[in-house]
This record gives sequence, structure tokens and C-alpha cells, in this order.
Amino acid sequence: MNKQRVGGLEAGGTKMVCAIGDGNGRIVERSSFATTTPEETVPQILQFFKAHAIAALGVGCFGPIELRETHHDYGKILHTPKIPWVRYPIFETLKKGLQVPIALTTDVNAAVIGETRKGAAQGVDSCLYITVGTGIGAGAIINGKLLAGFSHPEMGHISVKRHGSDTFQGNCPYHSDCLEGLASGTAIEARFQAPAASLSSRQEVWKMEAHYLAEAIAQYILILMPKRIIIGGGVMKQAHLFPLIRKEVSQRMAGYVDIDSFDLDSYISPPSLGDDAGITGSLLLAEDVYQSFKYKHHEALKKGW
Ligand code: ADP
Ligand code: ZN
Repeated sequence: MNKQRVGGLEAGGTKMVCAIGDGNGRIVERSSFATTTPEETVPQILQFFKAHAIAALGVGCFGPIELRETHHDYGKILHTPKIPWVRYPIFETLKKGLQVPIALTTDVNAAVIGETRKGAAQGVDSCLYITVGTGIGAGAIINGKLLAGFSHPEMGHISVKRHGSDTFQGNCPYHSDCLEGLASGTAIEARFQAPAASLSSRQEVWKMEAHYLAEAIAQYILILMPKRIIIGGGVMKQAHLFPLIRKEVSQRMAGYVDIDSFDLDSYISPPSLGDDAGITGSLLLAEDVYQSFKYKHHEALKKGW
């Protein structure tokens, strides 16, 4: 049976990735555009999806965003450092422009959905996805449900113990030396005065990075007890960070939480969908929202509405 095509949008601070899915979470076509201003970027997104007659759209968006459906600001981007996007009504604009059911979540929530349904954590009901890129963020599925309270989590902004030889003040505009302020790609670049990708051979850079990420992951484990931890984002292209992080996390658990009985290589791992974790999750969300829309439509017809 031919499934309806759906759209997925991974709205990132650097680029917008648009994809068409085959109805089974597989990408059949894609395009991406630089994220500049909404006035410039959004028409490109609308044009791409209008050309494909999609049945629904799933969106994984950089945050913070208002995700309470009953809130008057639902679907608006909130106090982001990306100034042209502050208070931008992304949900409403896409809804008006495309006239299809839309599911909206954060970029990291989309990635954790992608990895638990199609990637490294298939069948795992409690999983944490962390991205270490321009900023740091994490999304979690705990007992099969996306973790959320009055808002989505902001795990990139927790406090971490400073590395003994770090004198960098931190560059989070809100908290200076939170995790993101000390360990994001932009923090590495500001501290060492060179792009993170150019520092591969500088051991002290990655020892410090592993220290900060392990500090945070140890706390995430103590609070959430995830069964898998997946770390993606540009900075994790430095694959030698993984063994350093595993070792430091294990030391911090100190045998109290026995993660050493796990296969640590898969307990803390890169996304098996690579850079496609988020866009795959967005497509899966689009399929879900389309199915629930069809169901509601069917029920309404049965009741003669
Ligand atoms: P975004 O967070 O904007 O979605 P990325 O996940 O690609 O984008 O992260 C971009 C950040 O990752 C930048 O700060 C960049 O310096 C860093 N980065 C990109 N490639 C590498 C690499 N090979 N090694 C280390 N850092 C990298
Ligand atoms: Zn912060």
C-alpha cells in the first residue's frame, strides 16, 4: 500500500533541514537552507513543502519554544539568542502556509524519537539524547514518554564543577559558566581562540571537554537513570571524546550506580542515524500526527458531525 508522503523540518540555528518521508520514517528527498531571518528563511521552507503535497508536517525546532498547547504563546520561539527569531510564531506560520496537521517539538526531542524508533536505541523505553554543537541541549524519553514539565527540559544549562585548569569565564548569555557556557562548540572556540574542528590534536582540549560532559552526564544518570545515552552534534565528530567520556562518567559513578556492568560502548554512544536523527524523528512525528488526524476525522464522520 502506498503511504501518504509527509514532511519533516529540523529547524536549527545554523540551517533548516527539510525532508519528505515515505510514511515509514525514511527520507525520499531533502533540501536545506541557511537560517538567517524568518522573513528570508520561512518562504524557502514553505516553497519546498508546497511543491510536495505533504499530508502532515513534523517539526523539531531549536528552543526554547512554548509547547503547552493551551498556552496563548503555543508554538512561539521564546528568548533565544538568535534575535530575529525571538517570539517568532513558527507553528502558526507553518500551519497557515501549509494547511496540514503539524506536530511540533524541540530539536533534541525529535532526535531522541528518531533514535528510539529507528536508530541506536530501538526498543529502549528510557533514553537520553544530548547534542553538543553551537549550544548544548538534551531530550529524554522516560518510560516511553517525552520528558516535560511546565516546559521542555533545558539540560544544557545546568551547573557543572569547573575543570581545575580552566580560567575561561564561560559564554552563556544567561549564566556565563553553565554547561553550555563551558562546553559548547562556541565555548571551545572562545576559550582556545580557534574553531573546535581545528583542535583535534590538542589533548588538553578534549580532556577538559570530557570532564564537563561527564560532569553533566553523571547528574543526568543520577536523576533520570536512562537506559541509553546518545550524544550527537558537531563537537562529537571528535570521536575520541567517547572513550574519555565513558571513563570519566564511570569514575564519577564510583560504583554507587553500577553502570560498569553495562556494555559502556553502547550505553554511551553516537547516534546510529548520525546527523539524520532529528529529521527522522520529525518525519515520525508527522506520521503520528497524520494518523491521529485521520482517526479523529473518521470518528467525526461516524458521529455524523
Ligand atoms: P548546530 O548546533 O548549530 O545545530 P552542529 O551540531 O553542527 O550545529 O554544531 C556546530 C558546532 O560544532 C560548532 O561550534 C562547531 O565548531 C562544532 N564542530 C563542527 N564540526 C566539528 C568537528 N569536526 N570537531 C569539533 N567541533 C566541531
Ligand atoms: Zn546557560
